[in-house]
Order: sequence, then structure tokens, then C-alpha cells
Amino acid sequence: MNKIIDLRSDTVTKPSEKMRLAMYRAEVGDDVYGDDPTVNRLEELGAELFGKEAALFVTSGTQGNLLALLTHCRRGDEVIVEANSHIFLYEVGGLSALGGIMPRCIPGDNGFLIPESVENSIRSENVHHPITRLICVENTHNLAGGAVITIEQQNALRQVADNYQLKMHLDGARAFNAAVFLGCPVAEVAQPYDSVQVCLSKGLGAPVGSLLVGKKDFIAQARRYRKMVGGGMRQAGVIAAAGIYALENMVERLADDHHNAKLLAEKVANVKGLGLDMRSVDTNIVYCKVDEDYMSAVELCDKLREKGVLANAMGSDRVRFVTHHDVTTEQCQQAAGIINEIMMADR
Ligand SMILES: *Cc1c(COP(=O)(O)O)cnc(C)c1O
Repeated sequence: MNKIIDLRSDTVTKPSEKMRLAMYRAEVGDDVYGDDPTVNRLEELGAELFGKEAALFVTSGTQGNLLALLTHCRRGDEVIVEANSHIFLYEVGGLSALGGIMPRCIPGDNGFLIPESVENSIRSENVHHPITRLICVENTHNLAGGAVITIEQQNALRQVADNYQLKMHLDGARAFNAAVFLGCPVAEVAQPYDSVQVCLSKGLGAPVGSLLVGKKDFIAQARRYRKMVGGGMRQAGVIAAAGIYALENMVERLADDHHNAKLLAEKVANVKGLGLDMRSVDTNIVYCKVDEDYMSAVELCDKLREKGVLANAMGSDRVRFVTHHDVTTEQCQQAAGIINEIMMADR
């Protein structure tokens, strides 16, 4: 039998042999004492790459976003988030449960918060109102199919934030995918934001971890909150080494994932019973709509699984394919062939 082609997510990537070797060799210490040289090096490297003063190694993207929200906001504050954002939909309501923070959801245009809508939702000074504190942006935008928000769009939002003295946080789980797509250093993507969360464990292929970057005093406070939520790790250099390896070796190759996603999308776009807008494929995520006259999204995923292809059903009629380091161009072509076969058989 052929090897399973796992297109569920870029989080399924496993550490390569070279990455594991870097982990094996990592010098370690107790990071809660600030003694882990490998964690310290990862945080310095992260801060430098993102053009910020400091960085904090955290357990996950969810934790990085939570710490940013806790640090920027006080209880009762309001945070502007895009209605389909990961922070709002997929982080277990942590901002409200743990931070007493209210999300204000604004539907975006393909994941992009429209500056006028943001402006219209900012609370005026009034004894009845919570205080609008923060705007959260997601780039690339997961549910919008890995859509990239451009530098100009980001700057337009920063302008609004400045006019109202709001902070800006980037959920940059896939910020490097955005940078590779835009052909710019990731620092340019990060530039308008007070803080950025980036995942090392997605397309970059590390087994665990994210970085939160920002100003020194912001990171110092986030470090206290990290301890509070149980994220103070000890000899974390073993996993930080994978993060360093990822930042040094796995960024440029994201272009291959984008190429493979395009290829897969192009092959699937013409399959009867599937709907796909090529313009929605910027980076490594491909969403396609399944015509309900053929089958449901779950049925398609079940049939794919029988033939060795894994994908995620998102709602009743959308299937998500994500390309990454552990699937080759040939496997993407093979997967497209299998998708075609299944849809044809159902005619
Ligand atoms: C995956 C993801 C996260 C959360 O990362 P975890 O490490 O899974 O907690 C946050 N935001 C976006 C946009 C993501 O895709």
C-alpha cells in the first residue's frame, strides 16, 4: 500500500532527522531561572527576525495569543477580532474565560478586517461602554484559505489603531507563509503590530512551540502570565533547538508548499462536483466546496481516507487540504487524481 498522504494540516509535520539531531545536541538549563542557553538563543533569534525588542517561547499558538491578550488588556476590555478568526472560533473562549475580555466580532473581507468597519465598532467614551483596547489580525488567515493580508491593508488598520490609541496584535501562526508569499522579510509583516504570535509547529516543522514577540516590558509581563497558566518550562532547550532549526532552515521552503497547493488546486478546480476559486489559494491551504448533489464534505473525507488521503471536513460542504514539508509534489498530484476518481465514480 502507498504511504498515507496527510493533508489535514501543516501541524502533522514530524521533525526531520537533522532537526532531531539539533534537539539531541541542545545545551539545556532551567528556563524558569533563565538558564537555558538554547531557549535564550531561540528568543533572541525570534526577536531579531521579527524586528522586535524581545521574544518569549511558549507552548502553543493558543497560549501565545492568550498571553498577548492578557498582557494588552484588562478585565472588561473589548478586543476587535475578525468573525472567522482562530482566536474567536478555536481557542476555547480563553480570552473571556481566563482574561474576562470581550471579543467584538467583525466580519471581514476574505479574512481582512475592513478599516471602516473597525472604526465604526470602536467604543466611544461613555460610562456604559467597555473600553476598546486591541485589534487582532490573522495573517495568513486560516478560515479564509490561507489568504494573505497585504502590507498596505495592515498599514490601513494601523492607521485606525493609531487614531484611537489602540494596540494591535497579529495572530501570525503562519506569518512566515505571508512573508514568503509577499516576498518580504517577516519583520515587514510584523512591523505594524505591538505583538505577534508565530507558530514553529506548523509549516516550519518543529514538534512543539510558538514565539510571542513584542517590546521588552510587554514580554516581561507575558512571561509572568506564561508562568500563571502553567507554561513555565524547565529544560525546554530540547524543543527550542527544533525551533531554531526551523527558523534557520525551514522558512524559504514554504514556497514549495505554496507551489504544491496551487498545483493541487488547479487539478481539483475542474473536477465536476467540486467548487474552488483559484484566487483564494495564496499559500498552503486549499478549500473546496463539495456539491451536495454528489456527497457531503464528511463523505468525501471518508472516501479519501479509504484511499489513503487524509483531509478535514470544515462544516457540511467544505473540505480543507493543507500542503506541508511531509507531502511531496508527486503526492499532491496523486491526491488530486484520487479526488477526481472519487467524484467521477459518484456521477
Ligand atoms: C494553529 C493556529 C493557532 C493556534 O496554534 P496552536 O499551536 O494549535 O495552539 C492560532 N491561530 C491560527 C491562525 C492558527 O492557524
